[in-house]
Amino acid sequence: MPEAGETVTIVSHRGEFLAYAAYSPQSQIRARVWSFDARVTIDATFMSEALKRSIEYRKQVVGPDCDAIRLVHAESDGLPGLIVDRYADTAVIQCSSSGAELWRDVFAEALMRYSGCTRVFERSDAEVRKLEGLDPRVGVVCGDAPPESILVREGSARYMVDVRQGQKTGFFLDQRDNRAQVLRSSRGREVLDAFCYTGGFTVAALLGGARSVTALDSSAGALERARENVQASGFANAQVDWVEGDAFASLRRLYDQGRRFDLVVLDPPKFAPTEKHVPRAARAYKDVNLWALRLLRPGGLLFTFSCSGGVGETLFQSIVAGAGLDAKTDCRIVDRLSAAADHPVALNFPEGAYLKGLVLALYNSALPNSAPVDTQ
Ligand code: SAH
Repeated sequence: MPEAGETVTIVSHRGEFLAYAAYSPQSQIRARVWSFDARVTIDATFMSEALKRSIEYRKQVVGPDCDAIRLVHAESDGLPGLIVDRYADTAVIQCSSSGAELWRDVFAEALMRYSGCTRVFERSDAEVRKLEGLDPRVGVVCGDAPPESILVREGSARYMVDVRQGQKTGFFLDQRDNRAQVLRSSRGREVLDAFCYTGGFTVAALLGGARSVTALDSSAGALERARENVQASGFANAQVDWVEGDAFASLRRLYDQGRRFDLVVLDPPKFAPTEKHVPRAARAYKDVNLWALRLLRPGGLLFTFSCSGGVGETLFQSIVAGAGLDAKTDCRIVDRLSAAADHPVALNFPEGAYLKGLVLALYNSALPNSAPVDTQ
């Protein structure tokens, strides 16, 4: 039997070549394809060239005013199991398959050569590693240890990223374009950022000229970081109403207190990582969307997201539609959102389209909400 991560040739039942792949003895996904081309050789050069190509592509899709970028997006960049995020001069690498694990040192070396980063830090502590029989590993791979927080730029926004302990590799890079859209939509509005984490959307709303921002999360640590990010971006913490608490209860409480908003961002954690979690997740999504819609004033906008692999676009839309019906609101989908272009989706890997977002505009409401806001 091949070793874990070893390159194997996949053949059809007639013995014809199909692909070269990395073997994963413990995973349900037994082999992950490196190439469908029989002429290539799967070696260190193949890996570093793939990585270089991936880095080059980002120059086309992320402007020079941003130094927080996903450099490698796993399957969608032809490198299954490998995630690389860049935060200023630090590259954070995450290997989540036996194949990526085997080539880790080659990836790190290529990153030092092609990315312009001065250090590589590893965050191979994602849960999915367990499915491959791999232990978690976190630490420095090349260069010195990163500072406790790394300051990154995204247009006028400044974020402090904790690459050692932050969620994913430290920040939600996939929401970049959606932050920009919230920024453009926030002028004069009262904004609620629910599940704010380290305040990505909160900062965007402030930069966009929101009249007020309420930021809600259950994690005290995330809110602490969010406060730092608000300050790093040139605003005072007092400009934000910080709410620490469970969103399910807090959204109801805000409603009961008579609070209403003109723009709500709802970006909950992955309620359904896989299909089997879907029924419970659907109820959770419906509940938070229902309360978000009730909290919206007529004329308001809801930016609602799901990053659950188990919940497809169609299902997500029907859950939100159910919430809209129960909230007795008259709302329209005015936009569909996804992850930014440094998170491409390979045509042969539709599962890569994990982030779905809808922008809903509330026309009217049967509930006794206050008058529409002047958005000028
Ligand atoms: N919108 C964020 C990312 C959200 S990640 C961004 O763009 O950066 C999901 C967040 O939900 C995490 O910060 C987590 O602490 C928070 N969270 C998880 N369960 C929660 C709950 N029941 N109530 C409130 N916040 C919760």
